[in-house]
Amino acid sequence: MFQKILIANRGEIACRIMRTARRMGIATVAIYSSADAEALHVREADEAHWVGPAPSAQSYLDIAAIIAAAQATGAQAIHPGYGFLSENAAFAEACKAAGIVFIGPDVEAIRVMGSKSEAKALMAGHGVPLVPGYYGAEQSDAALTAAAQEVGLPLLIKASAGGGGRGMRIVRDFAEFPAALASAQREARNAFGDPTVLLERYIENPRHIEVQVFGDTFGNVVHLHERDCSLQRRHQKVIEEAPAVHLTETQRATLFGAAIKAAHAVNYVGAGTVEFILDRAGGIYFIEMNTRLQVEHPVTERVTGQDLVAWQLRVAAGEPLPLSQSEITCRGHAIEVRVYAEDPDQNFQPSTGRLEHLALPAESAHVRVDTGVVTGDSVTPFYDAMIAKIITDADTRADALQQMQRALAHTEIVGVTGNIPYLQRILAHPEFQAGGFDTHFVDDQRDALVPVATATPPEVCLLLAAHAHHQTAHALRRYHAPAPEAGSPWETLVGFRLNEDPCFTFKFQRGEETLTLDLRQEGPSQVLICAGQELRFQIVSCEGARVEVKSATSRLHGAVVATARETHVFWSGTQHRFTPLSLLDTGEDETEAGGKLVAPMPGAVMAVLVEVGATVTRGTPVLVLEAMKIEHTLLAPFDGTVLEIRYRVGEQVLREGEELVKLQPLTEAIEV
Ligand code: ADP
Repeated sequence: MFQKILIANRGEIACRIMRTARRMGIATVAIYSSADAEALHVREADEAHWVGPAPSAQSYLDIAAIIAAAQATGAQAIHPGYGFLSENAAFAEACKAAGIVFIGPDVEAIRVMGSKSEAKALMAGHGVPLVPGYYGAEQSDAALTAAAQEVGLPLLIKASAGGGGRGMRIVRDFAEFPAALASAQREARNAFGDPTVLLERYIENPRHIEVQVFGDTFGNVVHLHERDCSLQRRHQKVIEEAPAVHLTETQRATLFGAAIKAAHAVNYVGAGTVEFILDRAGGIYFIEMNTRLQVEHPVTERVTGQDLVAWQLRVAAGEPLPLSQSEITCRGHAIEVRVYAEDPDQNFQPSTGRLEHLALPAESAHVRVDTGVVTGDSVTPFYDAMIAKIITDADTRADALQQMQRALAHTEIVGVTGNIPYLQRILAHPEFQAGGFDTHFVDDQRDALVPVATATPPEVCLLLAAHAHHQTAHALRRYHAPAPEAGSPWETLVGFRLNEDPCFTFKFQRGEETLTLDLRQEGPSQVLICAGQELRFQIVSCEGARVEVKSATSRLHGAVVATARETHVFWSGTQHRFTPLSLLDTGEDETEAGGKLVAPMPGAVMAVLVEVGATVTRGTPVLVLEAMKIEHTLLAPFDGTVLEIRYRVGEQVLREGEELVKLQPLTEAIEV
């Protein structure tokens, strides 16, 4: 076995690999970019090596720098994790050339499977069922247009080198084909350096089922059962589970048989995933093979009781597979959710910033948490916005779901917008609970998944009031001069007024609701008057974010986190965001951005779709900005003329609110 490995990745996956390495007595070397100097994966590794500046292209994707780090630290093998260089054949080749073991399959398997087109051609030859489509090398517009006619509508244009749902366009009308093709090719070229596309018949409402496979250097290949990853947004997985529900044993046998065939076809070594889609009639089609460990591997680990990273390390060190097919069993049910820094209510826009407060559920026999960040860390625009993966398991799916609901109720995020409430709404949805939904669930249920505005519950008012009072009392005590006599009301009672009860008023805004909290001290108790209700309580404790209060008949606890601009209350699995009213009315004029097209977030300029002097109408696409792996097309906010374009294609926009394009509104243009 290796004595030392380098992990060519960051965040939760780097931390997760270290967990197994530590258990196996293997020393770990982390790599980091300038943006990650203080990151958890750096702190947890035995040693860490800087590989370049923040942009991935200059650090986590810099093959030479990573190989040099492995050589400098004496690492015998490199684990690539997922993403970054994990499916990069040149990287596997470079490791080999440097005499370092690449913990993954052979260069040739990565290369073939890295091209969806080549993979499909190979699979067809091995009797693996495929979605009808065009996988050819001829990529002229004429050839692709002719092929599109043959494949028929609806069709899907995919980047051959694609991944993460990028470079994909659905075409339902041939008139849309040229624009969709150009846009898919552009995204493919920018993201993967290869504009090659393939065309596939678009399967309506499919399920996404994938099979975990494992091969060793002795030619053995096994499967570790399936995962259902149908819960997706924008073709990206959000919730995964194992096993898949409502599958017949015949379907399972077909899936496993096809997956093993696919792995044998490329003499597969290490961990791989063979992905399929199932149509509504139950037809099974191969879509691609991922030649690495998947993000969602923990659900397989929970139901099989195996550690897939340990398997990877053993196989890479030349050992045979730890178990034979008949020894691998699938027990119970496991589910994983991806906790992202994104705003599902704003079209899943990534949210960057400092994690002012992050509380994740406690790990237990049924709850596992994989994360790479802690309170105080930042989610930057440079990398994936995943905060954590929460995995629960139980004997039945219903129990695993219940465990997940409890786990999410104990997850608190302040500083960036998290998707917890959205995940909770999905988990509570009857169709999700029934299982067997398809990849369109999120779109089809859009209306059922939007937040419902509700009045602030009295419990939340109470926690907010208790915290506000505690903070004020604390602040006042700090600024008061020492009292002349012990026990003086000036020292002990906050809000003390002669001949009157001590009294405070706090005002907060929550959405459309303005909340006035009137607090009066009566002996040891506080009396809160809010929304016409009178609530009498005592503060039991207020330490850090945790707040506990009691009334004559009950006890209540929650968490309250105040940042410079907001106060967040967590109670009973819900999060409520308030703005202290004094912070509102900063005088910022909403129309201030008028005349400018500003960046809604930091990112890279992918395309400029207009020229200086061009006339645009409201809604005209002006510029394409890529942030957190998603292309955002920015539209003209009004009719006007383009005066100045401030960024060129490829340039990085470092700050949100940065002016990208100067526009002259049409009305003004006429006046001039
Ligand atoms: P990527 O490598 O970018 O993740 P995949 O080929 O794995 O791309 O597909 C990602 C998702 O896109 C699938 O899980 C599925 O939801 C959808 N998808 C892929 N191919 C098809 C198809 N032919 N018809 C319908 N949906 C598809």
